[in-house]
Amino acid sequence: MTATDLLAAPPTGGPALPQERRIVTPQIPGPRSLELLERKKAAVPGAVSVTLPVFVTAAGGGVLVDVDGNSLIDLGSGIAVTTVGNANPKVTAAVAEQLERFTHTCFMITGYEGYVEVAEALNRLTPGDHDKRTALFNSGAEAVENAVKIARKATGRTAVVAFDHAYHGRTNLTMALTAKNQPYKSGFGPFASEVYRAPLSYPYRDNRSGAEAAAAAISTIEKQVGAENLAAILIEPIQGEGGFIVPAEGFLPALAAWATANGVVFIADEVQTGFGRTGAMFAAEHENLVPDLVVTAKGIAGGLPLAAVTGRAELMESVHAGGLGGTYGGNPLACAAALAAIDEYENGGLVERAQTLEPLIRGRLNAMRAADPRIGDVRGRGAMMAIELVDPATKAPDAELTQRVAKVCHADGVVVLTCGTYGNVIRLLPPLAIGDDLLVEGLDVLARALGRS
Ligand code: PMP
Repeated sequence: MTATDLLAAPPTGGPALPQERRIVTPQIPGPRSLELLERKKAAVPGAVSVTLPVFVTAAGGGVLVDVDGNSLIDLGSGIAVTTVGNANPKVTAAVAEQLERFTHTCFMITGYEGYVEVAEALNRLTPGDHDKRTALFNSGAEAVENAVKIARKATGRTAVVAFDHAYHGRTNLTMALTAKNQPYKSGFGPFASEVYRAPLSYPYRDNRSGAEAAAAAISTIEKQVGAENLAAILIEPIQGEGGFIVPAEGFLPALAAWATANGVVFIADEVQTGFGRTGAMFAAEHENLVPDLVVTAKGIAGGLPLAAVTGRAELMESVHAGGLGGTYGGNPLACAAALAAIDEYENGGLVERAQTLEPLIRGRLNAMRAADPRIGDVRGRGAMMAIELVDPATKAPDAELTQRVAKVCHADGVVVLTCGTYGNVIRLLPPLAIGDDLLVEGLDVLARALGRS
Protein backbone atom coordinates (compact mmCIF):
# COMPACT_ATOMS: atom_id res chain seq x y z
CA MET A 1 0.00 0.00 0.00
CA THR A 2 1.38 3.41 -0.90
CA ALA A 3 1.21 6.49 1.28
CA THR A 4 -1.41 7.92 -1.10
CA ASP A 5 -3.59 4.81 -0.69
CA LEU A 6 -3.21 5.19 3.04
CA LEU A 7 -4.36 8.76 2.88
CA ALA A 8 -7.49 7.70 1.05
CA ALA A 9 -8.05 4.57 3.08
CA PRO A 10 -10.12 4.61 6.24
CA PRO A 11 -7.85 4.64 9.26
CA THR A 12 -6.92 1.27 10.64
CA GLY A 13 -7.17 0.35 14.27
CA GLY A 14 -9.58 -0.49 16.96
CA PRO A 15 -13.13 -1.58 17.08
CA ALA A 16 -15.03 -0.08 14.16
CA LEU A 17 -15.44 3.29 15.81
CA PRO A 18 -16.87 6.27 13.98
CA GLN A 19 -13.91 8.53 13.28
CA GLU A 20 -15.45 11.69 14.65
CA ARG A 21 -15.25 14.27 17.41
CA ARG A 22 -18.52 13.94 19.30
CA ILE A 23 -19.35 15.63 22.58
CA VAL A 24 -22.58 14.34 24.10
CA THR A 25 -22.28 15.62 27.67
CA PRO A 26 -22.69 19.28 28.64
CA GLN A 27 -19.06 19.28 29.61
CA ILE A 28 -16.01 17.03 29.63
CA PRO A 29 -15.54 15.05 31.83
CA GLY A 30 -19.13 13.83 31.78
CA PRO A 31 -21.03 12.43 34.78
CA ARG A 32 -19.83 8.82 34.55
CA SER A 33 -16.22 9.93 34.23
CA LEU A 34 -16.72 12.22 37.23
CA GLU A 35 -18.03 9.28 39.26
CA LEU A 36 -14.98 7.23 38.32
CA LEU A 37 -12.77 10.18 39.16
CA GLU A 38 -14.18 10.18 42.69
CA ARG A 39 -13.46 6.45 42.97
CA LYS A 40 -9.96 7.03 41.63
CA LYS A 41 -9.36 9.70 44.26
CA ALA A 42 -10.28 7.24 47.00
CA ALA A 43 -8.27 4.34 45.56
CA VAL A 44 -5.24 5.74 43.70
CA PRO A 45 -2.74 8.25 45.09
CA GLY A 46 -3.03 11.73 43.66
CA ALA A 47 0.64 11.46 42.64
CA VAL A 48 -0.59 9.33 39.73
CA SER A 49 -2.22 12.37 38.18
CA VAL A 50 -4.16 12.53 34.92
CA THR A 51 -4.03 15.08 32.14
CA LEU A 52 -7.65 14.76 31.04
CA PRO A 53 -9.89 12.99 33.55
CA VAL A 54 -12.13 11.04 31.22
CA PHE A 55 -12.25 7.26 31.46
CA VAL A 56 -11.92 5.40 28.18
CA THR A 57 -13.95 2.39 27.07
CA ALA A 58 -12.81 2.04 23.46
CA ALA A 59 -10.23 3.54 21.13
CA GLY A 60 -9.11 3.14 17.54
CA GLY A 61 -7.89 5.05 14.50
CA GLY A 62 -7.74 8.61 15.78
CA VAL A 63 -10.36 8.57 18.52
CA LEU A 64 -10.79 7.73 22.21
CA VAL A 65 -14.35 7.02 23.35
CA ASP A 66 -15.17 7.66 27.01
CA VAL A 67 -17.66 6.09 29.40
CA ASP A 68 -20.14 8.89 28.71
CA GLY A 69 -20.07 8.31 24.97
CA ASN A 70 -17.90 11.30 24.10
CA SER A 71 -15.56 10.65 21.19
CA LEU A 72 -12.31 12.59 21.51
CA ILE A 73 -9.71 13.23 18.84
CA ASP A 74 -6.46 11.64 20.01
CA LEU A 75 -3.41 13.78 19.30
CA GLY A 76 -1.31 12.12 21.99
CA SER A 77 -1.27 8.36 21.26
CA GLY A 78 -0.91 7.63 24.98
CA ILE A 79 2.44 9.51 24.79
CA ALA A 80 3.66 8.17 21.45
CA VAL A 81 2.67 4.56 22.07
CA THR A 82 -0.30 3.73 19.84
CA THR A 83 1.46 4.88 16.70
CA VAL A 84 -0.03 1.97 14.71
CA GLY A 85 -3.50 2.90 15.97
CA ASN A 86 -5.11 1.95 19.25
CA ALA A 87 -6.27 -1.68 19.33
CA ASN A 88 -4.83 -2.07 15.83
CA PRO A 89 -6.61 -5.15 14.40
CA LYS A 90 -3.37 -6.88 13.39
CA VAL A 91 -1.93 -6.32 16.85
CA THR A 92 -5.05 -7.53 18.67
CA ALA A 93 -5.29 -10.63 16.43
CA ALA A 94 -1.64 -11.52 17.08
CA VAL A 95 -2.05 -11.05 20.83
CA ALA A 96 -5.31 -13.07 20.90
CA GLU A 97 -3.63 -15.92 19.07
CA GLN A 98 -0.68 -15.90 21.47
CA LEU A 99 -3.03 -15.62 24.46
CA GLU A 100 -4.59 -18.97 23.56
CA ARG A 101 -1.20 -20.69 23.40
CA PHE A 102 0.66 -19.46 26.50
CA THR A 103 1.01 -16.24 28.44
CA HIS A 104 4.39 -16.55 30.13
CA THR A 105 7.34 -18.83 30.68
CA CYS A 106 10.00 -16.28 31.70
CA PHE A 107 12.44 -16.14 28.81
CA MET A 108 15.32 -16.71 31.22
CA ILE A 109 13.84 -20.07 32.22
CA THR A 110 12.53 -21.45 28.92
CA GLY A 111 12.62 -19.59 25.64
CA TYR A 112 10.10 -19.00 22.85
CA GLU A 113 10.41 -17.93 19.25
CA GLY A 114 8.60 -14.56 19.54
CA TYR A 115 11.37 -13.05 21.68
CA VAL A 116 14.05 -14.13 19.23
CA GLU A 117 11.99 -12.82 16.29
CA VAL A 118 11.61 -9.40 17.91
CA ALA A 119 15.36 -9.32 18.58
CA GLU A 120 16.07 -10.27 14.95
CA ALA A 121 13.71 -7.55 13.70
CA LEU A 122 15.32 -4.86 15.87
CA ASN A 123 18.81 -5.98 14.91
CA ARG A 124 17.78 -5.60 11.26
CA LEU A 125 15.88 -2.30 11.59
CA THR A 126 18.04 -0.18 13.89
CA PRO A 127 20.71 1.95 12.16
CA GLY A 128 23.92 0.28 10.98
CA ASP A 129 24.57 -3.11 9.40
CA HIS A 130 27.08 -4.31 12.00
CA ASP A 131 26.54 -7.44 14.08
CA LYS A 132 23.95 -6.67 16.79
CA ARG A 133 22.15 -8.21 19.75
CA THR A 134 18.89 -7.19 21.44
CA ALA A 135 17.68 -7.72 25.02
CA LEU A 136 14.03 -7.07 25.93
CA PHE A 137 12.58 -5.31 28.96
CA ASN A 138 9.25 -3.90 30.18
CA SER A 139 9.52 -0.13 30.13
CA GLY A 140 11.59 2.64 28.65
CA ALA A 141 13.18 3.43 32.01
CA GLU A 142 14.16 -0.18 32.59
CA ALA A 143 15.73 -0.37 29.14
CA VAL A 144 17.68 2.89 29.70
CA GLU A 145 19.00 1.47 32.99
CA ASN A 146 20.13 -1.65 31.18
CA ALA A 147 21.82 0.31 28.39
CA VAL A 148 23.86 2.09 31.08
CA LYS A 149 24.69 -1.24 32.75
CA ILE A 150 25.93 -2.62 29.42
CA ALA A 151 28.00 0.49 28.63
CA ARG A 152 29.64 0.38 32.07
CA LYS A 153 30.41 -3.30 31.85
CA ALA A 154 31.77 -3.02 28.31
CA THR A 155 34.02 -0.03 29.00
CA GLY A 156 34.98 -0.67 32.62
CA ARG A 157 34.17 3.02 33.23
CA THR A 158 31.44 4.49 35.41
CA ALA A 159 30.48 8.03 34.36
CA VAL A 160 27.44 8.73 32.20
CA VAL A 161 26.61 12.02 30.49
CA ALA A 162 23.03 13.12 29.93
CA PHE A 163 21.85 16.50 28.65
CA ASP A 164 19.94 19.58 29.70
CA HIS A 165 16.18 19.05 29.26
CA ALA A 166 16.63 15.26 29.09
CA TYR A 167 13.95 12.81 30.15
CA HIS A 168 14.84 9.16 30.59
CA GLY A 169 12.38 7.83 33.19
CA ARG A 170 11.31 7.68 36.82
CA THR A 171 13.44 4.90 38.34
CA ASN A 172 16.34 5.93 40.55
CA LEU A 173 19.05 5.91 37.88
CA THR A 174 16.76 7.39 35.23
CA MET A 175 15.62 10.15 37.62
CA ALA A 176 19.29 11.03 37.97
CA LEU A 177 19.56 11.10 34.16
CA THR A 178 16.41 13.21 33.80
CA ALA A 179 16.96 16.95 34.01
CA LYS A 180 13.69 18.40 35.26
CA ASN A 181 13.08 18.61 39.00
CA GLN A 182 9.29 19.08 39.13
CA PRO A 183 7.47 16.75 39.04
CA TYR A 184 9.97 13.99 38.29
CA LYS A 185 12.66 14.27 40.97
CA SER A 186 11.60 16.60 43.74
CA GLY A 187 11.95 14.92 47.13
CA PHE A 188 12.95 11.53 45.69
CA GLY A 189 16.72 11.69 46.15
CA PRO A 190 19.44 10.73 46.78
CA PHE A 191 19.99 9.88 43.17
CA ALA A 192 22.41 7.50 41.52
CA SER A 193 25.93 8.88 41.29
CA GLU A 194 28.32 9.33 38.37
CA VAL A 195 25.72 11.09 36.24
CA TYR A 196 26.86 14.37 34.63
CA ARG A 197 24.95 16.89 32.58
CA ALA A 198 26.08 18.62 29.41
CA PRO A 199 24.47 21.51 27.52
CA LEU A 200 22.17 20.64 24.65
CA SER A 201 21.68 22.26 21.28
CA TYR A 202 18.40 24.23 21.51
CA PRO A 203 18.30 26.31 18.31
CA TYR A 204 15.35 28.50 19.34
CA ARG A 205 17.11 29.60 22.51
CA ASP A 206 20.87 29.25 22.10
CA ASN A 207 21.54 30.67 18.61
CA ARG A 208 24.35 28.18 18.15
CA SER A 209 25.18 26.03 15.14
CA GLY A 210 25.29 22.29 15.69
CA ALA A 211 29.11 22.38 15.62
CA GLU A 212 29.26 25.21 18.19
CA ALA A 213 26.79 23.48 20.52
CA ALA A 214 28.67 20.19 20.22
CA ALA A 215 31.98 21.93 20.98
CA ALA A 216 30.41 23.42 24.14
CA ALA A 217 29.06 20.04 25.24
CA ILE A 218 32.36 18.27 24.55
CA SER A 219 34.29 20.95 26.43
CA THR A 220 31.99 20.51 29.45
CA ILE A 221 32.45 16.74 29.30
CA GLU A 222 36.23 16.92 28.96
CA LYS A 223 36.61 19.49 31.75
CA GLN A 224 34.09 18.09 34.22
CA VAL A 225 34.23 14.33 33.62
CA GLY A 226 37.23 13.31 31.48
CA ALA A 227 36.82 10.95 28.54
CA GLU A 228 38.83 8.27 30.32
CA ASN A 229 36.14 8.04 33.02
CA LEU A 230 33.17 8.17 30.71
CA ALA A 231 31.22 5.00 29.89
CA ALA A 232 28.42 6.53 27.84
CA ILE A 233 26.79 9.56 26.33
CA LEU A 234 23.01 9.14 26.48
CA ILE A 235 20.80 11.36 24.34
CA GLU A 236 17.33 11.58 22.82
CA PRO A 237 17.80 12.44 19.11
CA ILE A 238 14.79 14.74 19.53
CA GLN A 239 13.99 15.48 23.12
CA GLY A 240 10.49 14.43 24.08
CA GLU A 241 9.37 15.52 27.55
CA GLY A 242 12.03 18.27 27.47
CA GLY A 243 10.11 20.14 24.77
CA PHE A 244 10.42 18.43 21.37
CA ILE A 245 13.79 20.06 20.91
CA VAL A 246 15.40 19.21 17.58
CA PRO A 247 19.15 19.86 17.93
CA ALA A 248 20.85 21.95 15.25
CA GLU A 249 22.17 19.93 12.34
CA GLY A 250 25.58 18.49 13.04
CA PHE A 251 25.24 18.43 16.84
CA LEU A 252 24.48 14.72 17.15
CA PRO A 253 27.04 13.52 14.58
CA ALA A 254 29.79 15.60 16.25
CA LEU A 255 28.98 14.09 19.65
CA ALA A 256 28.86 10.59 18.19
CA ALA A 257 32.22 11.08 16.44
CA TRP A 258 33.80 12.34 19.67
CA ALA A 259 32.37 9.35 21.55
CA THR A 260 33.79 6.90 19.02
CA ALA A 261 37.20 8.58 19.07
CA ASN A 262 37.27 8.33 22.87
CA GLY A 263 35.95 4.80 23.40
CA VAL A 264 32.69 6.16 24.84
CA VAL A 265 29.45 4.28 24.13
CA PHE A 266 26.95 6.49 22.27
CA ILE A 267 23.41 5.58 23.38
CA ALA A 268 20.38 6.90 21.49
CA ASP A 269 17.23 6.96 23.61
CA GLU A 270 14.64 6.44 20.86
CA VAL A 271 11.87 5.60 23.32
CA GLN A 272 9.69 8.50 22.12
CA THR A 273 11.16 9.05 18.63
CA GLY A 274 11.29 5.44 17.44
CA PHE A 275 9.17 3.41 15.05
CA GLY A 276 8.26 5.78 12.26
CA ARG A 277 7.20 8.62 14.53
CA THR A 278 9.60 11.18 13.02
CA GLY A 279 9.25 10.06 9.41
CA ALA A 280 12.13 7.59 9.61
CA MET A 281 12.09 4.24 11.36
CA PHE A 282 14.46 5.81 13.93
CA ALA A 283 15.23 9.51 14.39
CA ALA A 284 18.98 8.85 14.34
CA GLU A 285 18.60 8.15 10.61
CA HIS A 286 17.87 11.81 9.82
CA GLU A 287 21.56 12.55 10.35
CA ASN A 288 22.91 9.13 9.34
CA LEU A 289 23.85 8.39 12.93
CA VAL A 290 24.78 4.86 13.89
CA PRO A 291 24.47 4.71 17.69
CA ASP A 292 26.36 2.00 19.58
CA LEU A 293 23.20 1.20 21.58
CA VAL A 294 19.61 2.10 20.76
CA VAL A 295 16.91 2.10 23.44
CA THR A 296 13.33 1.56 22.27
CA ALA A 297 9.90 1.20 23.94
CA LYS A 298 6.52 2.98 23.53
CA GLY A 299 5.58 2.49 19.85
CA ILE A 300 7.30 -0.89 19.68
CA ALA A 301 4.27 -3.04 20.57
CA GLY A 302 1.14 -1.02 19.79
CA GLY A 303 0.29 -0.48 23.46
CA LEU A 304 1.60 -3.59 25.19
CA PRO A 305 4.49 -3.03 27.58
CA LEU A 306 7.77 -3.84 25.90
CA ALA A 307 11.17 -2.17 25.61
CA ALA A 308 14.53 -3.08 24.16
CA VAL A 309 18.23 -2.39 24.09
CA THR A 310 19.77 -3.12 20.70
CA GLY A 311 23.45 -2.68 20.09
CA ARG A 312 26.83 -3.71 18.87
CA ALA A 313 27.37 -7.41 19.49
CA GLU A 314 30.73 -6.85 21.19
CA LEU A 315 29.17 -4.45 23.73
CA MET A 316 26.08 -6.56 24.36
CA GLU A 317 28.20 -9.73 24.70
CA SER A 318 30.52 -8.11 27.23
CA VAL A 319 27.98 -8.84 29.98
CA HIS A 320 28.25 -12.14 31.87
CA ALA A 321 25.46 -14.77 31.68
CA GLY A 322 22.55 -13.84 33.95
CA GLY A 323 23.62 -10.19 34.05
CA LEU A 324 20.63 -8.99 32.03
CA GLY A 325 16.99 -10.00 32.23
CA GLY A 326 13.92 -9.88 34.42
CA THR A 327 10.78 -11.90 35.07
CA TYR A 328 8.59 -10.34 32.39
CA GLY A 329 11.05 -8.79 29.94
CA GLY A 330 9.99 -9.84 26.43
CA ASN A 331 6.66 -11.28 27.60
CA PRO A 332 5.16 -13.48 24.84
CA LEU A 333 2.02 -11.35 24.45
CA ALA A 334 4.10 -8.19 24.12
CA CYS A 335 6.39 -9.90 21.60
CA ALA A 336 3.40 -11.04 19.50
CA ALA A 337 2.10 -7.47 19.57
CA ALA A 338 5.52 -6.10 18.62
CA LEU A 339 5.87 -8.42 15.64
CA ALA A 340 2.48 -7.30 14.32
CA ALA A 341 3.24 -3.63 14.99
CA ILE A 342 6.69 -3.84 13.39
CA ASP A 343 5.09 -5.46 10.33
CA GLU A 344 2.76 -2.44 10.12
CA TYR A 345 5.70 0.00 10.36
CA GLU A 346 7.71 -1.86 7.73
CA ASN A 347 5.02 -2.91 5.29
CA GLY A 348 1.98 -0.75 6.09
CA GLY A 349 3.42 2.51 4.79
CA LEU A 350 3.53 4.09 8.25
CA VAL A 351 6.96 5.69 7.96
CA GLU A 352 5.77 7.36 4.75
CA ARG A 353 2.54 8.31 6.51
CA ALA A 354 4.54 10.23 9.13
CA GLN A 355 6.44 11.95 6.30
CA THR A 356 3.13 12.96 4.71
CA LEU A 357 1.72 14.27 7.97
CA GLU A 358 4.72 16.53 8.66
CA PRO A 359 3.95 19.21 6.02
CA LEU A 360 0.26 19.05 6.87
CA ILE A 361 0.85 19.67 10.58
CA ARG A 362 3.75 22.08 10.09
CA GLY A 363 1.73 24.09 7.58
CA ARG A 364 -1.15 24.53 10.03
CA LEU A 365 1.16 25.36 12.93
CA ASN A 366 3.09 27.89 10.84
CA ALA A 367 -0.19 29.55 9.84
CA MET A 368 -1.13 29.77 13.54
CA ARG A 369 2.26 31.28 14.26
CA ALA A 370 1.87 33.88 11.54
CA ALA A 371 -1.38 34.95 13.18
CA ASP A 372 -0.21 34.79 16.78
CA PRO A 373 3.28 35.89 17.85
CA ARG A 374 2.87 34.09 21.17
CA ILE A 375 3.90 30.99 19.21
CA GLY A 376 7.64 31.51 19.40
CA ASP A 377 8.68 28.34 17.62
CA VAL A 378 7.21 25.55 15.49
CA ARG A 379 9.41 22.47 15.45
CA GLY A 380 9.64 18.72 15.25
CA ARG A 381 9.79 16.04 12.61
CA GLY A 382 7.21 13.76 11.06
CA ALA A 383 4.24 13.23 13.34
CA MET A 384 6.17 14.58 16.33
CA MET A 385 5.53 18.33 16.12
CA ALA A 386 5.17 21.09 18.69
CA ILE A 387 4.69 24.78 19.35
CA GLU A 388 6.56 26.70 22.04
CA LEU A 389 4.47 29.46 23.64
CA VAL A 390 6.22 32.60 24.84
CA ASP A 391 5.91 36.27 25.62
CA PRO A 392 6.54 37.68 22.13
CA ALA A 393 8.56 40.62 23.47
CA THR A 394 10.97 38.66 25.63
CA LYS A 395 10.70 34.99 24.57
CA ALA A 396 9.94 34.23 28.23
CA PRO A 397 8.16 30.87 28.43
CA ASP A 398 4.39 31.15 28.95
CA ALA A 399 3.39 28.04 30.87
CA GLU A 400 0.05 29.50 31.97
CA LEU A 401 -1.05 30.17 28.42
CA THR A 402 0.03 26.65 27.52
CA GLN A 403 -2.14 25.17 30.27
CA ARG A 404 -5.10 27.30 29.24
CA VAL A 405 -4.84 26.28 25.59
CA ALA A 406 -4.55 22.59 26.50
CA LYS A 407 -7.59 22.83 28.78
CA VAL A 408 -9.71 24.50 26.10
CA CYS A 409 -8.70 21.75 23.63
CA HIS A 410 -9.65 19.08 26.15
CA ALA A 411 -13.02 20.72 26.82
CA ASP A 412 -13.56 20.76 23.06
CA GLY A 413 -12.82 17.05 22.70
CA VAL A 414 -9.20 17.05 21.53
CA VAL A 415 -6.47 15.34 23.52
CA VAL A 416 -3.28 17.40 23.31
CA LEU A 417 -0.31 17.03 25.63
CA THR A 418 2.05 19.64 27.00
CA CYS A 419 5.76 19.25 27.72
CA GLY A 420 8.98 21.20 28.09
CA THR A 421 11.34 22.11 30.88
CA TYR A 422 9.43 25.39 31.14
CA GLY A 423 6.02 23.75 30.68
CA ASN A 424 5.34 25.93 27.64
CA VAL A 425 5.22 23.47 24.77
CA ILE A 426 2.15 21.88 23.21
CA ARG A 427 3.13 18.68 21.48
CA LEU A 428 1.30 16.69 18.87
CA LEU A 429 1.76 12.93 18.64
CA PRO A 430 -1.20 11.69 16.61
CA PRO A 431 -1.53 8.00 15.89
CA LEU A 432 -0.38 7.39 12.31
CA ALA A 433 -3.72 5.63 11.81
CA ILE A 434 -5.59 8.93 12.15
CA GLY A 435 -7.42 10.18 9.06
CA ASP A 436 -6.47 13.54 7.55
CA ASP A 437 -9.91 15.07 8.17
CA LEU A 438 -9.85 14.25 11.84
CA LEU A 439 -6.31 15.50 12.25
CA VAL A 440 -7.17 18.78 10.54
CA GLU A 441 -10.25 19.13 12.74
CA GLY A 442 -8.05 18.60 15.79
CA LEU A 443 -5.65 21.29 14.57
CA ASP A 444 -8.59 23.65 13.94
CA VAL A 445 -9.69 23.12 17.54
CA LEU A 446 -6.13 23.93 18.68
CA ALA A 447 -6.12 27.12 16.59
CA ARG A 448 -9.47 28.19 18.06
CA ALA A 449 -8.28 27.36 21.57
CA LEU A 450 -5.26 29.57 21.08
CA GLY A 451 -7.47 32.37 19.82
CA ARG A 452 -9.65 32.09 22.92
CA SER A 453 -6.81 31.85 25.45
N1 PMP B 1 13.00 7.87 27.52
C1 PMP B 1 12.23 8.73 26.83
C2 PMP B 1 12.86 9.56 25.75
C3 PMP B 1 10.87 8.86 27.13
O1 PMP B 1 10.12 9.74 26.44
C4 PMP B 1 10.32 8.06 28.15
C5 PMP B 1 8.85 8.14 28.52
N2 PMP B 1 8.22 9.34 28.32
C6 PMP B 1 11.16 7.17 28.83
C7 PMP B 1 12.49 7.10 28.49
C8 PMP B 1 10.64 6.30 29.93
O2 PMP B 1 9.81 5.31 29.41
P1 PMP B 1 8.79 4.54 30.37
O3 PMP B 1 7.76 5.53 30.81
O4 PMP B 1 8.24 3.43 29.50
O5 PMP B 1 9.59 4.00 31.50
